[in-house]
Amino acid sequence: MTDLPAIVAQIAADMAGEVERGAVADYIPELAKVDPGQFALAVALPSGHVISAGDAATPFSIQSVSKVFTLAIALGRLGDSLWNRVGREPSGLAFNSILQLENEAGIPRNPFVNAGAIVVTDAILAGHAPKVVLAELLAFIRAAAGDEDIHINKAVARSEQATAHRNIALAEFMAAHGNLRNPSALTIGTYVHQCAVEMTTAQLARAGRFLVGAPGCPRLVSPARARRINALMMTCGHYDGSGEFAYRVGLPGKSGVGGGILAIAPGRASIAVWSPGLNAQGNSRLGTLALERLVRATGWSVFG
Ligand code: GLN
Repeated sequence: MTDLPAIVAQIAADMAGEVERGAVADYIPELAKVDPGQFALAVALPSGHVISAGDAATPFSIQSVSKVFTLAIALGRLGDSLWNRVGREPSGLAFNSILQLENEAGIPRNPFVNAGAIVVTDAILAGHAPKVVLAELLAFIRAAAGDEDIHINKAVARSEQATAHRNIALAEFMAAHGNLRNPSALTIGTYVHQCAVEMTTAQLARAGRFLVGAPGCPRLVSPARARRINALMMTCGHYDGSGEFAYRVGLPGKSGVGGGILAIAPGRASIAVWSPGLNAQGNSRLGTLALERLVRATGWSVFG
């Protein structure tokens, strides 16, 4: 049996000494204030037991990691009909790119690029007030984490809303193609609040257990659905860095511009890592490096 606590502690110690930490996202002004010196790694076992090191009790903005939870909710609500409005292919483009939407008639490539996530949020909004949908999202995440103390940071939501020109453009472009059901202001307003959910690295690790598929994990989606969400995380969870992430880490993963990554070792563990500095694709630089080392030490890559 690998000595997980020692491995996790060693990785955190190694990361503390890294000088090249990447750059914090600055297009959302509130995120630009976050100290890039922080790092946390947490591994949640199927039992719920968490092994962590570093700043694992510090809340951070989960941003696009929220797209995993909204996808699970949307599939629960709409089933496979969701796939009429969003695809399942990697985009090979930046998370906020508008390029493919014109050629592909307003159908985003996948649910993890911004355009796709906006469609997913729009789909779960249908007929409900944003407040109700956000309450449902928080209820889902709290149930997954087994922790009620998870909230939305309103200052981060407001800060993103004030600079959301690109996301509004994506929504309006999809509306022009008949792929938006609500006014763009309503959908984007909901989307920026969803992205502004704050969690600690330990909470996020626990919240990912519903995708691990081992006895003891919360069963919030069916095993077949968990398998498919994992497949999408593997192929699309890191945008135009998804191939590189699969190559280096070999686990389904979803990143966010807050510097968080949720990675799933099927049958074994849910892993969260957080370091605010990003690489050129907007994925946590040290987060990726830490996961690469964890997988090397544990042999947890799905590719053996
Ligand atoms: N809220 C962010 C945005 O829409 C999420 C992007 C991300 O985390 N990659 O720009």
